[in-house]
Amino acid sequence: MQQSNRICVCLRLALLLFCSIALQSPAFAQKRWSCGIAQGTMWETRYYVADTNKPGPVVMIVGGVHGNEPAGARAAEHIRHWRITKGKLIVLPRANNPALKNNSRSMPALPKGRSNLNRNFPKADGDRPKCTLSKAIWELIGSQRPDWLLDLHEGSDFTRINSKSVGSSVIAAKMPEVAELAGRMLDTLNETIEDPNKKFVLKGPPVNGSLARAAAERLKIKSMILETTYKDQPISRRARQHRIMVHRFLSDLAMAAGGPDVLVSDARPDDAIYVAIYDAGGVGGKGPGNLEHDLRPIPNIVLRRVGVAEITGGVLKQFDVVIAPGGSGSKQARALGDDGCRAIVEFVENGGGYAGFCAGAYLASNNYTWSLKIIDADVIDRKHWKRGTGQVKIELTGEGRRLLSDEPGLIDIRYANGPILAPAQDANIPDFKALAHFRTEINKNNAPEGVMKDTPAVIVGRYGHGRVFCSSPHPESTEGLEPLVRQAIRWSAGR
Ligand SMILES: [Zn+2]
Repeated sequence: MQQSNRICVCLRLALLLFCSIALQSPAFAQKRWSCGIAQGTMWETRYYVADTNKPGPVVMIVGGVHGNEPAGARAAEHIRHWRITKGKLIVLPRANNPALKNNSRSMPALPKGRSNLNRNFPKADGDRPKCTLSKAIWELIGSQRPDWLLDLHEGSDFTRINSKSVGSSVIAAKMPEVAELAGRMLDTLNETIEDPNKKFVLKGPPVNGSLARAAAERLKIKSMILETTYKDQPISRRARQHRIMVHRFLSDLAMAAGGPDVLVSDARPDDAIYVAIYDAGGVGGKGPGNLEHDLRPIPNIVLRRVGVAEITGGVLKQFDVVIAPGGSGSKQARALGDDGCRAIVEFVENGGGYAGFCAGAYLASNNYTWSLKIIDADVIDRKHWKRGTGQVKIELTGEGRRLLSDEPGLIDIRYANGPILAPAQDANIPDFKALAHFRTEINKNNAPEGVMKDTPAVIVGRYGHGRVFCSSPHPESTEGLEPLVRQAIRWSAGR
């Protein structure tokens, strides 16, 4: 008896240590805390609670049940920082961490038949969850007893175009109140979608074995699945669609405090760096993912994908740095439009950091009609912009060795039609400093020889109160240059 008491006390102490309690917010007093589930297993993951201590609905948001549907996990990671006015918000952003890391629908290490987490919840009264992780999630739901459960997923295609996929739908449990609120979420979201084929539709009920179906039928929790579409759409747009739906939902329950584009915590550590990576129109394939990979090791860095709607809506105020990755500078400018471009220029003018890689350096430059004109550099030999891709060598200047890396000699780096830069001598902008020069060149497609070699490859400048970093070549897609990318972003953030 005594021994079991002692074990019980020990367990409670361990639980207290594992759970972290945080913050009273001044605006809306709410206690925030987080805790782990499936502790000590490969499935261990955290959930986050905002509790106002005022009567109101208990809402649970789940993301990342399927590892190849990242927008749900990302949106939930944003939503967990939202303030609410009453009730309680519980967010489990990365339900299935190992699958998210593998970008796979299935759970690793489990046999077929048990590897789909969203079929492992009780299918009938008296049934048990079929795996360790579904059991842990089921126990969490049993202990928190939410009134509502929203599970954020993605489909492979737009369901209005391809009925085999559930992409761009809300799948509601068979409960009148669920269909009603889901319908209003769709109305609000569909106003933001122009293409009629890509508008969201109401479906239901969720498939048997799914978390939402089990929660509705076994525990009478009002549940639904939100499905965005990952085909041909940037992550920023899909995560925003989730946020718009959840925000409308919380508004209908009179719980919402801020808007749908709150992406980060306002209780930030002093040394935190908040970075917005533009991933929408004009951005090429792997740039944003490579940047996230390179930057993630920086302690207290917060990385968020943003699109045009967020930027024109003023979201950059939440960040220290905005990154324009590779792709096409003119297409990025066109997608951003006058309002988006102006928002970036004003952000930098007011003290923000800008980092442009290849297309992002074109965008920052001074002499295109669509240029942001935030660095005193012209692009020269514009006629031969398509001079080719391949490995080139750059050499850091003294300033480059001080700011980026104390690597002496020549550095191999990937080049892909980046801008050839020269001083613009615009009297309104301070001169740029070169951090590196090209020491070899690429001159395919009739580009003349000798133009690229010895021009500045990496430059920095000031604009208003802000900082501008531009790299013509691609350190973010060159293995071994990850530390250089991290330094560039630290510098852009004023660290
Ligand atoms: Zn899914």
